[in-house]
Amino acid sequence: AREYERYRERTPNSKTMADELREIVPAGVCSTFRAYDPYPFHAERAEGTTIHDVDGNEYLDFALNNGTQLVGHTHPRLTDVATDQIERGTLYTRPSELLEFAATPLIDRWEAIEQVRFTNSGTEAVMHATRLARAYTGREKIVRMEGAYHGAHDPALVSKMPPLEQAGPAGDPRPVRESQGIPSSVPDDVLLAQYNDAESVEGLLRERGSEIAAILVEPACLNLGLVEPEDGFLQRLRELADEYNVVLIFDEVKTGVKLAPGGGAEYYGVQPDLVALAKAIGGGYPVGAFGGRREIMELIADDLNDGVATGAAHYGTYNGNPLSLRAVGVTLREILTDEAYDHVADLNARLATGYREVIEDSGLEAQVKAVGSQGMVHFTEEPIRTFRDWTHVDEEFHEAYWIGMVNRDVLPHPHDASQQWTVSVRHTAEDVDAHVDAFADLATHLS
Ligand code: PLP
Repeated sequence: AREYERYRERTPNSKTMADELREIVPAGVCSTFRAYDPYPFHAERAEGTTIHDVDGNEYLDFALNNGTQLVGHTHPRLTDVATDQIERGTLYTRPSELLEFAATPLIDRWEAIEQVRFTNSGTEAVMHATRLARAYTGREKIVRMEGAYHGAHDPALVSKMPPLEQAGPAGDPRPVRESQGIPSSVPDDVLLAQYNDAESVEGLLRERGSEIAAILVEPACLNLGLVEPEDGFLQRLRELADEYNVVLIFDEVKTGVKLAPGGGAEYYGVQPDLVALAKAIGGGYPVGAFGGRREIMELIADDLNDGVATGAAHYGTYNGNPLSLRAVGVTLREILTDEAYDHVADLNARLATGYREVIEDSGLEAQVKAVGSQGMVHFTEEPIRTFRDWTHVDEEFHEAYWIGMVNRDVLPHPHDASQQWTVSVRHTAEDVDAHVDAFADLATHLS
């Protein structure tokens, strides 16, 4: 309660703005994730690794817009090329050399990607990858992991963190629609398995393989804090996809270019058939992409204009806009270099070690996960392999931790326990140590 009081004292202008905004914008935000109690602080500007609010507070930013800004805010090289591109035009709706500029580094980084199409968000990337899988196999059902987040389109919101009282037993999970307005028919095409439980996937394939178009999975589950695949899990999914002629889709919206240059596929050594990407590939500019095996991707090229859909549709006015393409090309070719990956991996290890030391000294019940540029503290000592395990996290305690860190001028990760921190190429050892110091100070009040 004291931390909430302190938060209110530090953010009076945000409170006034939030109250006013709620009158004209539902909940005062443009994405449901962004609303939290008592109200979100309102941003004034961001640069480097700092975000400023409208009350003059400056936060060391490890949330980085849902981890999108692996390059930090306002990277000078990106600002330069974006300024140049604005003068050359922000939208052509024609192909240009920028398409090759942005596509090639993705093709180079992912063994699985032979062809790629650009979108404006991760939601669109996943949506189109699943449509393509359906078109390719002629089947309709998608196997996905209970509790995972794959975007805001209707099927993706089936059993994204369902309330346990509605979700049925772990061995036979019941699909739960996360929103009013999702047609009751949508869950029919969603089959639920448990992350890190290849047998749950195999069971579905054995029973209904001839109806299943795809297995959709995040290589590491990054909407359950940070849950890594156990040895053999992704490999087994690859084998099962081959055995049942099902398309394996990796949702690398969060893992892509962050776990390794070639995402979770490279890091864990398993190549899917299709990959959905967004967030960090664009250095903070709005973009998504989906790509994969030529044989599948080429279905998009089939003629749709004769009125008979023989292929899979992919439309969008802003798809592949030159501003975003330029940002992708520069981010992947110039900024996210091998040295940049070494830098963030070193600092991420330093941050995780710092957290672990504080936890040990303070006796807090918690565990720390870190991989690539991302990490997270889970306030439970129970192992977390699945969504059901994740529900043991003490969310209320986590909330107090998050607000307490914000009060100490550190934005540790996007709001709520399902998220994770990102160490950017612009963070320094001093930034990481300041983050750990804030946690150490807070821990004396929490424990
Ligand atoms: N897939 C995953 C794994 C995500 O984490 C997200 C967003 O957080 C999405 C898809 C949707 O991406 P976007 O918010 O760009 O639509």
